[in-house]
Amino acid sequence: MHTFHHAYIDGRFVPVQGTTVLHSVNPATEEPLGHTTLANRDDARQAIAAAKRAQALLGRSSKAERIDMLQQLEAAVLAHADQIRDVTIEEYGGPLARAQWVSQYASQCFARTAELLRGYDFSRRVGDSLVRMEPVGVAALIAPWNSVAGTVCSKLASAIAAGCASVIKPSELSPWQTEVTAQALHAAGLPGGVFNILLGRGEDVGDELVTHPDVARISFTGSTPTGQAIVRAAAGTIKRVGLGLTGKCAAIVLDDADLPQAIEQALACAFMNNGQACVAGTRLLVPAHRLTEVLALVQRQVAALRVGDPRDAETAIGPLASRAQYERIQHYIRRGLEQGATLVAGGEGRPEGLAKGYFVRPTVFAHVHNGMDIAREEIFGPVLSILSYADDADAIALANDSAYGLQAYVFSRNRDRALAVAERLDAGAVLINRTLPDPLAPFGGMKQSGLGRESGLFGLESFLEPKAIVGA
Ligand code: NAD
Repeated sequence: MHTFHHAYIDGRFVPVQGTTVLHSVNPATEEPLGHTTLANRDDARQAIAAAKRAQALLGRSSKAERIDMLQQLEAAVLAHADQIRDVTIEEYGGPLARAQWVSQYASQCFARTAELLRGYDFSRRVGDSLVRMEPVGVAALIAPWNSVAGTVCSKLASAIAAGCASVIKPSELSPWQTEVTAQALHAAGLPGGVFNILLGRGEDVGDELVTHPDVARISFTGSTPTGQAIVRAAAGTIKRVGLGLTGKCAAIVLDDADLPQAIEQALACAFMNNGQACVAGTRLLVPAHRLTEVLALVQRQVAALRVGDPRDAETAIGPLASRAQYERIQHYIRRGLEQGATLVAGGEGRPEGLAKGYFVRPTVFAHVHNGMDIAREEIFGPVLSILSYADDADAIALANDSAYGLQAYVFSRNRDRALAVAERLDAGAVLINRTLPDPLAPFGGMKQSGLGRESGLFGLESFLEPKAIVGA
C-alpha cells in the first residue's frame, strides 16, 4: 500500500497543506492500492512562486545548459523505466507491452528534444529586424489520467528546451504514477523550482494554475469540456494556451487495402491503451462492397484478443482504469444497441472468466451511421464502430463529419491514393499504414480536438515567443 501526502516544490518533497484524501484501487483486482492527500490552492501558489524564482535563471540559461538538463533528465527517467512500467500496470491497468512502451517513450522525449535543440537557432533576421525567440515564462503543464509519464515528460522536455520553468499537475486519479514520475525527475538533480509537481483537483489546483497572473502559458491535455473551461479561465490574464483534447478518430480502409493486415492494424488502433486513448481509431470506415469480408475478419481477430491480467505478456486488453470508466463503457454499449447498431463482437458485462476488475468485452458495432452517439461521442474504451462508405469521396465526407479532428488512419496498398485521401482529412495527423505516430512530427488536433501543437520543433516553439528588435 502506498501513501502520498506531499508535493514536489522547489526541488524538495514537502507535505501538502490540502486535506482531501483519495483512495485508489488496483483496477485489475479491485484491491486497495493506497491513499493520497491532495494539494490545495496554497500549495499551488507556492509551486508557482518557486517556478517564478527559477524562471529568472532558466530564462537566461544557455542552449548548452538546457541540453545538459535534458540529458540529465533522460538518464534519470531511463534509470526508473522499470518502476514507470510497473506502476502503469498496477495503478492504471496498462497491458505490459504498452506499459513498457510508455516507460521508454518517457526518457526518449528528453533525448529527442536535446537533439532538436542542438540544431535550433533562437535568433533569426527578418527584414531589418533581429528576431529573438524568447521563453514565454512560467508554464502550467496539466495532464490526464490515461497517460502520465509520457505526457508529463513530453511537455516538460519542450518547456525546459525553451527555457520555461513549470508547475506540473497530473490527474488526481493517478497518484502513484505521479509519485514514480516525480521521483525519477527529481533524481536528475536539476536546480530547485525548474519544475514543480503537485496533485490536486481541477476545480482548485487546476483553476489556480490557469488563473494565476504569474503563469504565462498553459499546456493542457485532457477532455474538450475541460479545455473549454480553461480557455475561459485563462482569458483573464491572456495566457498562451495549448490544448490537446478529445478525439473520435476515423480509420479508413480503402478498397485496395490488404484486408487481413489492415483490419489487424485497425483493431490495434481502436483498442490501444485499453481503448483509453485520445488517438484511438474508434470509427472504422470500410467500403460497403467489402463489408462482409471485413466483418468475418473482425470477428475472428477480436475473438483471438486476450483480455485479462495486464502483467501477462499475452494480454492485449487490460482492465479499464476505474469503475466510472467501466460504467461509461456499459452505457455506450447499451446506447449502440438502443440506437439500432448491429453487435458484431463483445457486448455488455465482463468477459467470461473475469469476475473481478474493471474488465469490459472488446466490442464492435456494424451498420453504424454518423447520427448515432457511438459514432459522434468519445467512448474512451475498447468499443469500435464500423461505418460503410460508397467511394473515397464518401469516406472523406463521413470521416470529416465530426466535431473532432485529432488523428486519422488510412490503409491502402497505393501510397499516392492514400496520400490524396490524407490530404483531404480534417485531422492534426494522418497515419498511413501504421499505428504508431512519428514522435518528431507536430502533434495536436483540428476543430474541437485542440489548439496548437506539441512535440518536436512545433512543441518547442509553442513555449517561445518572437521578439522583434528593429534596427539592430
Ligand atoms: P479531464 O479533462 O477530466 O482532466 C484532465 C486534467 O485536467 C486533469 O489533471 C484534471 O485534474 C485537470 N482539470 C480538470 N478541470 C480543470 C480546470 N477547471 N482547470 C484546470 N485543470 C483542470 O480529462 P481526463 O478524463 O483526465 O482525460 C481523458 C480525456 O483526455 C479524453 O477526452 C482524452 O481524449 C483526452 N486526451 C487527449 C489527448 C491529446 O493529446 N489530444 C491525450 C490524452 C488524453
